[in-house]
Amino acid sequence: MSEYARITVTLTQPVAAGRNARADFRQETHNHVPGSVLRGALAAAWIRRRGRDIARSPEFVETFEGTGSFGPLHSEGSLPVPLSVKKHKYASSDGCGSEWDAAYGERATTCEACGDPLVFSKGQPRGRVPLEHRTMVALSPKGVALDGQLFSQSTLKEETSLSGWLHGPATHAVFCDDEPIRTLSLGSRRSLRGSVTVHVDTEATPAPIECVGEDIILRLASPAVFCDDFGFPMDRPDLVELSEVLGVAALEVTDAWTRWGEVGGWHAASGLPKPVERAVAAGSTYRVHFAEAPSLESRRALATRGIGLRRREGFGALYVAPPRPEAHA
Ligand SMILES: [Zn+2]
Repeated sequence: MSEYARITVTLTQPVAAGRNARADFRQETHNHVPGSVLRGALAAAWIRRRGRDIARSPEFVETFEGTGSFGPLHSEGSLPVPLSVKKHKYASSDGCGSEWDAAYGERATTCEACGDPLVFSKGQPRGRVPLEHRTMVALSPKGVALDGQLFSQSTLKEETSLSGWLHGPATHAVFCDDEPIRTLSLGSRRSLRGSVTVHVDTEATPAPIECVGEDIILRLASPAVFCDDFGFPMDRPDLVELSEVLGVAALEVTDAWTRWGEVGGWHAASGLPKPVERAVAAGSTYRVHFAEAPSLESRRALATRGIGLRRREGFGALYVAPPRPEAHA
């Protein structure tokens, strides 16, 4: 089995992967499936197939609690616009460039064609993700409608396909008892639906992390957790980790476009929220200088492995910017 595997899910029901509940009772939806949700759904499938005791086996622990990575599942439009990218502040007209990426050294402040100001991305989705909105009634554990507890929920539409990568021991998660897992139920127990079919491609070749001269460009597809030697949160990747994974000395983070965010979550066993932690937001981008250009194969592996801590929970996933039709000075 190879070091990484491409997983694609296709929704057979609308999926609501709940984010933090909001004060106005409108539940926000991720426009993608976070790695933590994928991991939880695969672990649940193992337990359904092989019983609760499987969760104590070394095989299960290595797969779900080990050094592997469960990346987020995205559609073409749901990946964030990198924070290093500038766009028109207002709608651009025909004949104007659409993106200027400071990670490639494109430092324009106004569009050369129309003169309009350019502003940095806030990490919004790159394209449109089809969502449905519906108002629902909250149910008690017995399935009885709770009085007055209406909430509005957005869901990802049926037939949407989303893809991502598993890396290391996490690739074993899609086979249980040597049988492939073909269907999954996504979404937290607070959401009511979420069946998907699963397709796994162990021969797929990931796009390598971008390399410009002796520099690589890292773009976060999910929030990342980095900390210093004392355990304090940092907003920079670890050069020692990068050197080990790529097999070449990482010398310096020469440029960074980052935002802080907060991550929490829901601990299923206790039914309590997890503590909120600081994390670097998805869309954050780094340019890192190396002693020499890292190999193509090592950059492919890094693209699926991700960076930083808690990768098995979906943190620190990376993505590669799609090729662009035009470039700017
Ligand atoms: Zn313009």
